[in-house]
Amino acid sequence: MMDEPRCLNEGPDCRGPVEFHINPDRDDFKAFPRCEFHQAKRLGQAEKNRSWNSDVAPSWFDPTYAGERWNEDD
Ligand SMILES: [Zn+2]
Repeated sequence: MMDEPRCLNEGPDCRGPVEFHINPDRDDFKAFPRCEFHQAKRLGQAEKNRSWNSDVAPSWFDPTYAGERWNEDD
């Protein structure tokens, strides 16, 4: 019996069929199984990841998170 793919973010939020998706912010074209809901969420993160290339910290950036800092010379 074949295993059905399981959502990487499997949890009570899962919605829709689980399928393999390629994410636009990865350049290795690896596909990851996610349900419809979590893939939509993942794509939202990809949008945010793109803004990391910006000079200005995006509004969602929290410098206290994981001790990260936006600029070295702050
Ligand atoms: Zn899910």
